[in-house]
Amino acid sequence: MSNPIRLVIFGRQGAGKGTQCARLIERYGVAHISTGDMLRSAVADGTELGLKAKAIMDAGDLVGDDVMVGIVRERLAQADAAEKGFVLDGFPRTTAQAEALVMILGADSLHAAIDVDVPVDEVTQRMKARGRDDDTDEGIARRLELYEQETRPVLDWFEARDLLVTIDGFDAEDVVAERLAAAIDQRLA
Ligand code: AMP
Repeated sequence: MSNPIRLVIFGRQGAGKGTQCARLIERYGVAHISTGDMLRSAVADGTELGLKAKAIMDAGDLVGDDVMVGIVRERLAQADAAEKGFVLDGFPRTTAQAEALVMILGADSLHAAIDVDVPVDEVTQRMKARGRDDDTDEGIARRLELYEQETRPVLDWFEARDLLVTIDGFDAEDVVAERLAAAIDQRLA
């Protein structure tokens, strides 16, 4: 498939997706579309969406599919996503979101879905250490639970479509970045 590159990145919260996405943006020149960042900036700006999303995020729950699909649809319609390609980070998190994504982009539109795999114990420690607003013990536990319940089936969904690549993310940042780039380059070859 030709450029621009269109990727989805998965991983438990605390797996280092944000850091790795920053490197992907530098390496491949794609747009970074992080639904978590978009929601956090809506919260900071005190928009209607932000006011609604704050309590849900603090509890570690998921914002509704319709809202999330609307946000992503709008974002993907912006010129940079079409021109530069993108890495979607934090979306889709449910199979309903994955199905909506295919409707928006068309079938065969993604190059790969990459799962950065880091064990539960490690991400739990990392989240406790970073101390974000929603990193309470309950919030962390709830998000990990929802990852298994809601997002694991999305990984299976991509696997069934031959798009899933799992990489070991439990290593130094540079090592993981190399692994990630190698996996992407192989998919693009
Ligand atoms: P993240 O930065 O991706 O870890 O997202 C932070 C929080 O935003 C999550 O715990 C959810 O409450 C919410 N969120 C982000 N992306 C989504 C999504 N695709 N679907 C539902 N909720 C989301």
